Formats: sequence, structure tokens, C-alpha cells
Amino acid sequence: MTPMLEMRGIRKSFAGNEVLHGVDYTVAPQEIHALVGHNGAGKSTLINVLGGLYTDYQGEVLLWGEPVRLSEPQESLAAGISVIHQEFSLVPDFDAAENLALGREPRRQAGLIDHRAIQVDGRALLDSLGLSIPQGVPARQMSVAHQQLTEIAKALSRDASILVMDEPTSRLARAERLALFEIIRRVSNDGVGVIYISHFLDEVLSIADRVTVLRDGNVVLTGPADELTIDGLAALIVGEAPAARSKRIERKLDAGPVVIELDQFGQSGRPGNSLQVHAGQVLGLAGLVGSGRSSLLESVCGARPASGTLRLNGSEVRLNSPAVAAQFGVVLVPEDRKTKGLVMQRGVGENIVLTSLARDYAWLGIVHMAARREAIHEAILRFGIRTASDEATVSSLSGGNQQKTLITRASVSHPVVMLLDQPTAGVDIGAKGEIYSLLRSLADQGVACIVASDEIEELLALCDDIAVVRAGKVGKVNRSADLDEATLMAQMSSKGERE
Ligand code: ADP
Ligand code: MG
Repeated sequence: MTPMLEMRGIRKSFAGNEVLHGVDYTVAPQEIHALVGHNGAGKSTLINVLGGLYTDYQGEVLLWGEPVRLSEPQESLAAGISVIHQEFSLVPDFDAAENLALGREPRRQAGLIDHRAIQVDGRALLDSLGLSIPQGVPARQMSVAHQQLTEIAKALSRDASILVMDEPTSRLARAERLALFEIIRRVSNDGVGVIYISHFLDEVLSIADRVTVLRDGNVVLTGPADELTIDGLAALIVGEAPAARSKRIERKLDAGPVVIELDQFGQSGRPGNSLQVHAGQVLGLAGLVGSGRSSLLESVCGARPASGTLRLNGSEVRLNSPAVAAQFGVVLVPEDRKTKGLVMQRGVGENIVLTSLARDYAWLGIVHMAARREAIHEAILRFGIRTASDEATVSSLSGGNQQKTLITRASVSHPVVMLLDQPTAGVDIGAKGEIYSLLRSLADQGVACIVASDEIEELLALCDDIAVVRAGKVGKVNRSADLDEATLMAQMSSKGERE
């Protein structure tokens, strides 16, 4: 049978450096074909060829056996290829419906844009997909999950025959992922071919018909999903025995002194929470998207108005802003590293010392460049950030290394309490393992860590203790050794408890 899409011997170079070395990839109608690989393996580049982003690729693309040359995004769209890119493309000031209508707004007779029809059509589309995204909220105010779901709705609304999803679920909670899978299965049953990129191998194996593994720009395997295992895939992805897979890290359980204590503390106007974290303890917060984990972390580090009492090493403190919190050694590694964390166009080194510069390397207003440079080099080595140089822009790093940069920055500021929101979102298995050991070594130095994550497996592997957050309320703290995935999942998603 002729595949609906065939890519043959695709090669692509950037500035003379070849990153795809002759990739073959096909998609049949109704097929869900997953594409997996390490950060930097070439997945997005392959997808960008298909999306018409490059004019200078080598090799052939055939649609229903007919060779095509895709050198403009419009040509891809016209050929029925709809791509949800890894980076969001929403208009920040538009709400979901307006973003969905972009470029094909319904008009009234006088040629004026029919804003009412935009909202009605948008709602109808979202309803038909079973997506509940609030109306009238501009994209820049939406949660990351809602932005992602809007992107997905936008792509699905194009009547594509080939739908490409580049890591659509890295920002979604379990329940939302499951909802997305239903949508994917439905469109694939309708005849659409789906290209699905994800780091979640369990999810890949459950949804895909076939899986292709890319490593360093080469296909190392294409095969039916039901003949593959997670461990087998992980080994192919990293090209060696998967050492960094989430083995539960051995921990001594004797806790140090209480470092941070919350007493009826929370976001203003929300229920307060009481909680203690000890030196060297890693406390995990499990919950669904919207359960209030991020707002709690933001309140603790002064990024949101809070009520109640917060004690650090026994003394009550008021952390009214992130700057004040940082002076007390309370730092947040935020969820959205691109918009809240890193200065993407600045150097890796500059990003690392951004917050500690004034305190550590300046004296009477004079920055000690040599000491600063040395500290940067040491940090890059110690935290294993893979970068061409300390001056390379953060935007040139892979997602995993960007995240390590963010954690390194928080670490070099001598934190007492580290708050981490989704520390490994969108990061591959290898980098995940490295981030876990990085966090563990911080804890071993006595830092109290609070980690919010959507990955239950991750919380179980990384944290000493775990509490489930529902509707802004932190539940009972349990030793993670006493918990399992099913129990946590059940607690997280019990009915009627979402915000
Ligand atoms: P993946 O999506 O699998 O993580 P990418 O396709 O993004 O991988 O990257 C593959 C390789 O191509 C990486 O080494 C990356 O640094 C490089 N690369 C991607 N886009 C560009 C670009 N615009 N300029 C230079 N190098 C790039
Ligand atoms: Mg990518």
C-alpha cells in the first residue's frame, strides 16, 4: 500500500553541520507513528522539514507517492500537513476562540470581522473536542496546559490529513493527556495520519502503532509498538544501558532540623496550609494541573500575595517579593523556563550568575570578573551543563541543559529552601537522571527542597515524602516509600476536587 507520507533519505545541515543523516520515515492513513529520541536527536528538525520551514533539505518527500518539495509553511498546510510545534505560536492578546479563528475570521456582510461568530464557532470547536478552555482569557494569561490545548485545537481545526505533534503532552497533567489521547485516537480513526513526538515512553507505547527511534540524526529503529518495551526503547534512545532510568534513589531517612515551616499559609484568599520541610528533605507535591501547586510555590517565594505565617529556621519572615525571598535563600525554579526563568538571548554564564552576581562577586560596586568567570566555569562543570562555551546563548542549548542552567543558577545563590515547579518538563531521560542527582546532591548539602511535578513516577523516584494537592489544599504528607503510583493517582484525581 502506498503510504500517505514518505520521507526518503532526508538530510539537513545547519551552517555546514549535518544533523539529519538520511532519515527514512513513513506514515499510513489511520496510523499513529511515534518519533522518539534524546534532546538534539533531530526530531524537531525532521518535523520542520515536513512543515516547510527549510528550503535546503536533501532527500525526497512524497505524498501519496507523489514527490513534493515543501519549502514554505503555506505549502505544507495546503498539502494537508498540520504541525503543532514545540514552541507556542498563539497570539498573546487573543483568547482561545480568537486564536482558533486567526487568518480565517468569519465576516459580516460589510466585511467586518464577526466577533460574535468567532466566539460561537470557537466554543463549538472546543466543545466538539471535549476541551474546556475558559472563554475571554487572553493566551498570555492562560495556564501552560490551556495554551497547549488551544494549539492542539488550532491544528485539529485545519482538516489536516497529517497531524504532527511535537511533544504535545510535556505540559499536560495525566488526566489531560488521557483526554488528548482520546482525541488523537478519534482523528486517527477518521483517517488522519498522526506523527507523535514525546519523551513519555509509556505514553508512546500505549498510543502509537509504530515507533521510530532517532539517535544523533539517524534512524536506529522503526517497529511496531506492541513489540517494544520501555526499557528497550530507553536503551535505543541513549545508545547504552539506561542507567539513569528512574531507579529509586537510596536515601537515609534521618531528617535534619526544620528549615521552613508554613502555618496556615497560602495564597491570599485561599485556604491556608501547614507544612514543615527539614534540611535535606525533598518533599514532593503531586496534583493535577490547576490543583494549586504552582500558586503555593509562588506564594512561598514572594511572587504572589500570601496570608498566614512562614518561618525560616524558627523565625517568622515576610517574603514580600522574590528578591526578598532570595535574600533569605528561598528560590523558585519556575515551571516555564522560557518566559519566567531564563534570559534566552544571553549567555549561559550570565544567566547562571544573574541573581548571585551582586552579592558574591561585587564589592563596592566593582564586579570581580576573574572570580565571576571562575565561579561560572566551576558551576558549568559541576552541574554538567553541555554548552559550547559559557558565552553561548541559552537559546542554543537543549531543553535539558536549559533546565540545568536554571537549577544551577538557583544553586550557586546558596539556597536554604529550593522550590521547583516541574523540574524535568520536556526533558529527555538522560537529562532527567542528571537533574535528579543534582537535586539530591543539593538536598544532601542540607537544602530543603519542595518539588511540584506532574510525573508520579518522578515524585516517587526523587522525593522522600509526597503530599497530594487538591484545590489549593495540601493533603497528608506520606513517605514515598509507602506510596505507589496507583494510590497517588487515585488521590490526585478524586472527583470534584479540582479548582
Ligand atoms: P530534537 O527535537 O530531537 O530535540 P532538534 O531537531 O531540535 O532535536 O535538534 C537537532 C540538532 O540540530 C541539535 O544538535 C540542534 O542543536 C541542531 N539545531 C536545531 N535547530 C537548529 C538551528 N536553527 N540552528 C542550528 N542548529 C540547530
Ligand atoms: Mg525537539
